[in-house]
Amino acid sequence: MGTLDGNVLAGPIGDLLSFEPTTARGQCAGCGDVAVLAQAAVYGQPMGYVVRCRNCDDVLMVVVERGGRSSLNMPGLRWLEAAEQA
Ligand SMILES: [Zn+2]
Repeated sequence: MGTLDGNVLAGPIGDLLSFEPTTARGQCAGCGDVAVLAQAAVYGQPMGYVVRCRNCDDVLMVVVERGGRSSLNMPGLRWLEAAEQA
């Protein structure tokens, strides 16, 4: 199988990054809990949000909004699963 360039990822990663966050499911890397993001504990910060596991309180993700740009760090998510958009 030949190597493809990153353009082939536009479809699958584009779909993942445009997911409905409240219904996306993820697994906590700390305790293995699986839940939709709507069930997580979210703490508002001046520049964004810290999302913690409902079960063990580990940090699942950090969303930072600054200068008209947003960044997403997911240090505590083993995986994130989003339903395909209709
Ligand atoms: Zn956990």
